[in-house]
Amino acid sequence: MASNCRFCGNELKHTFVNLGMSPIANDYLCQAQLNKPEKFYPLHTYICEQCFLVQLEEY
Ligand SMILES: [Zn+2]
Repeated sequence: MASNCRFCGNELKHTFVNLGMSPIANDYLCQAQLNKPEKFYPLHTYICEQCFLVQLEEY
């Protein structure tokens, strides 16, 4: 993991909470999509030890 804080640029080293993989929020499915697979995205948040901004690595 080599991401940097998107506010202050400090290296992100600490996990705040890792909720694994999750389908995107508020992506309302129509009836035809109900039996099809959904795309999942990582929901792993990090906290910056310098400015304390909690952020996702991917957005
Ligand atoms: Zn920061």
